[in-house]
Amino acid sequence: MNKEVLLRAEGLRKSFGGVTAVNDVNFEMKRGEILGVIGPNGSGKTTLVNCITGFHKPTAGKVRFRGRNITGMKPHRIADLGINRTFQIMRPYFSMPAFKNLVIPLSSPRAKRVGGWRGGGRHGDRNTVAVDILEELGFERDSRVPYKLAGTLPTGYLKRLELGRCLALRPELIICDEVFSGLSASEISSLVPLLEKLNAQGITLIMIEHRLAELFRVANRVVALSYGEKVTEGEPDEVMEHP
Ligand code: ADP
Ligand code: MG
Repeated sequence: MNKEVLLRAEGLRKSFGGVTAVNDVNFEMKRGEILGVIGPNGSGKTTLVNCITGFHKPTAGKVRFRGRNITGMKPHRIADLGINRTFQIMRPYFSMPAFKNLVIPLSSPRAKRVGGWRGGGRHGDRNTVAVDILEELGFERDSRVPYKLAGTLPTGYLKRLELGRCLALRPELIICDEVFSGLSASEISSLVPLLEKLNAQGITLIMIEHRLAELFRVANRVVALSYGEKVTEGEPDEVMEHP
């Protein structure tokens, strides 16, 4: 059975004045895949994420999600349709307890509509769901970690908090922008099974990465960018052999 095409980029381009950061990029992905996007610094990876998630309006081309043209929609509308992203430069609410960072997305229309949670304006429920999500991501519920100020958490937990913020919106697709960067090899090894678990639960993933060895173990397929253009695409082994 052919799986549904979840996301498609058609001739996507983004220019900043004279710099074309993303140049005529085409790719598609099916529901359930883990797609890696690789490329050196400055090759347009984050700009591509920004174009898909509405943070940048593409200069040309289209983005389709479940067949629907989402090009140029605002980020909150795209999130409401089911695409969420982590930030390479993490921006939690540093002065709030970690779990409170999830209470905000848990208050969104999508979280109420799609999540099992039935709002009703009772803060207690949202707090519990927030801690539930963090627990799934390896925050030990009975430790103090979920309740610590986000600004005091080490990088490994901040990356998980970013994922938690995404999960709170019950996304169909999560785009992780260099979620491995700044992590030690052992922190990466503990994050990988979490990503695989999310994928097994039905969440489609795009992983923008720089750390190829680790990525190639998780991704089903890889798209490589260079100077904003797609230079190759294929299974990790095939892409590994490309010059
Ligand atoms: P990557 O994530 O692969 O490191 P980026 O997408 O961040 O690459 O950047 C691609 C290119 O676009 C770089 O040359 C960068 O300087 C440029 N660029 C990215 N964002 C902007 C912006 N907001 N304004 C101007 N130039 C930008
Ligand atoms: Mg980047």
